[in-house]
Amino acid sequence: MSTLEGHCMCGNVRYTVDDGTDPLMTVVCHCTVCQRQSGAPFSLNVVLPEATVHVSGPTVGEYETTSEETSTPVQRRFCTNCGSPILSVLGSMPGIVAIKAGTLADKSGLEPTAEVWARSKQAWVETNDDLGVFQTGFRTD
Ligand SMILES: [Zn+2]
Ligand SMILES: [Zn+2]
Repeated sequence: MSTLEGHCMCGNVRYTVDDGTDPLMTVVCHCTVCQRQSGAPFSLNVVLPEATVHVSGPTVGEYETTSEETSTPVQRRFCTNCGSPILSVLGSMPGIVAIKAGTLADKSGLEPTAEVWARSKQAWVETNDDLGVFQTGFRTD
């Protein structure tokens, strides 16, 4: 995959990922919080080691969610100017972040590898059974 970088809708918040870092996973998330945050039927997330991701900008906001689906908190970083979701810090997977794929500058190399929280998906959405499809998260405690 080419160098990963991206930004929010207004351009205030930008991020880069260390050269040569390959995503650990690229995951479709059907959870209700992702639906609410994005306004979309699901989110697509590029999962990376937190240490490789560098976020900068004057308007990085953070909001913590604990969904009805999992007891572990997620810190959701976004741009407070334009509202774009940027990434999530996953309480269930220390040291791991999930970048919202729609914010990437280059989306050509995206290859989803799994779908999570399929039990919360909108009825019209079909899962891709060529991927790993999980009814809940990777870890549900
Ligand atoms: Zn912005
Ligand atoms: Zn989600």
